[in-house]
Amino acid sequence: MLNFSKNFCLYTPWQKHNVCAGITTRTYEGLNVRADISDVFKNLKISLPEQNIIYLKQIHSAIIQTVNTSYKTILEGDGLITTQQNVCIVIKTADCVPVFIFHPKTKTACLLHVGWRSAYARIIPEALNLLNLQANELEVFIGPCLRQECFTVQEDFLENIIFRPFIFKQDNTLKFNIIKFIFQELISKKIPLSNIYDSGICSSCSNDKFFSHRKETGSKLRTLSFIYLK
Ligand SMILES: [Zn+2]
Repeated sequence: MLNFSKNFCLYTPWQKHNVCAGITTRTYEGLNVRADISDVFKNLKISLPEQNIIYLKQIHSAIIQTVNTSYKTILEGDGLITTQQNVCIVIKTADCVPVFIFHPKTKTACLLHVGWRSAYARIIPEALNLLNLQANELEVFIGPCLRQECFTVQEDFLENIIFRPFIFKQDNTLKFNIIKFIFQELISKKIPLSNIYDSGICSSCSNDKFFSHRKETGSKLRTLSFIYLK
């Protein structure tokens, strides 16, 4: 499912649909999104105009932008949807969850940046409502992110009532399982469990490959998640 090289990790199941989806590794700092992604694609022997690489000013919201053209200005939000060929949508993460959604029939791609704030703002149902596609035909890939064992939260996090079933006591500290929450959101919207593939990678435990905001105490470096419809 995952094809690792030095520079990036590709998610292979969508390649048959002419979709290039994946994640950059630490080779790229993710600070200059367009330059880094251009370089990734050069490595894949794909040339893509820089203005066709679309990313967001991420604000930990449930705002999702649909982009079917190239943009010079940088939009605000935490999700992107496109059906446009030759456009690459990109999300930056360092512990937050990159959620990739693809609908093979209509060749619709969606990428979400899901931190706990966006999760709380219900970005997943928002995305599925906007996509408005047959849920049992949607396919989901979950990239590297902070996993339960590393996702320590404080007592006041319990005030987020919708998260309570996903907060566990482990080693005498509270841990949040955001992945379990995301799975519940997807399944309650009728996406079959068999259509969801979780990489299982923890950004903190795999800090040699991916950036982790917590492990690197506030580092600005970001892992880039991308979907490109050829
Ligand atoms: Zn971990």
